[in-house]
Amino acid sequence: MRKGMLIVISAPSGTGKSTICRKLLQKRRDLKYSVSCTTRQPRPGEKDRKHYFFLSEKEFKQRIHKNEFLEWAVVHDHYYGTPRHFIEGSLKDGWNILLAIDVQGAQSIHEKMPDSVLIFVTPPSLESLKERLAGRREAVDSAAKRLANSKGELSAAKNYDYLVVNDELEKAVSQIDAILTAESLRVERQPASDLAPA
Ligand code: 5GP
Repeated sequence: MRKGMLIVISAPSGTGKSTICRKLLQKRRDLKYSVSCTTRQPRPGEKDRKHYFFLSEKEFKQRIHKNEFLEWAVVHDHYYGTPRHFIEGSLKDGWNILLAIDVQGAQSIHEKMPDSVLIFVTPPSLESLKERLAGRREAVDSAAKRLANSKGELSAAKNYDYLVVNDELEKAVSQIDAILTAESLRVERQPASDLAPA
């Protein structure tokens, strides 16, 4: 069986990454989403185990200690981490896994799994980010922190394999869909039996 691919999507807060991921998951039956753990508070409408596993800082640190994360990072003052067990099991079963994680997480994943696919999504402008962040029901200082961090995040785009501008949602989704199709057809990802058919 073909082993699954790990696909990492990073984008500054407010770029529309969650919507892109949701649409990709509707479009592609070969894709599963990796639900991360976090110590931040749920936003209105967010559900435990669906959007994140919401943990206390104590629980999160215990999991770090038990080596339960494939990667983890502190982002905007909160802990975020990718559960290792889910990823390893799903890849072995042939699933392609989508990770929506920050630039530090993407770098760790790239170091541990160099055949992962790294996609960076940018907003059409910083102005559009400001508007989206202002529209969120979050504290003003949190939105300001996210905007300030986004400038650093944008400078990390050069370390990714692909850059997609989210100026039009459907176009961005189709472009990422095309990237995944092309990546899954790379010769080095094919099982030996397909390379030398009997
Ligand atoms: P938010 O709080 O807006 O959901 O996410 C804040 C940032 O943390 C986003 O850049 C998001 O991609 C990132 N993030 C979410 N889950 C993880 C994770 O498991 N690991 C890392 N490194 N970053 C994550």
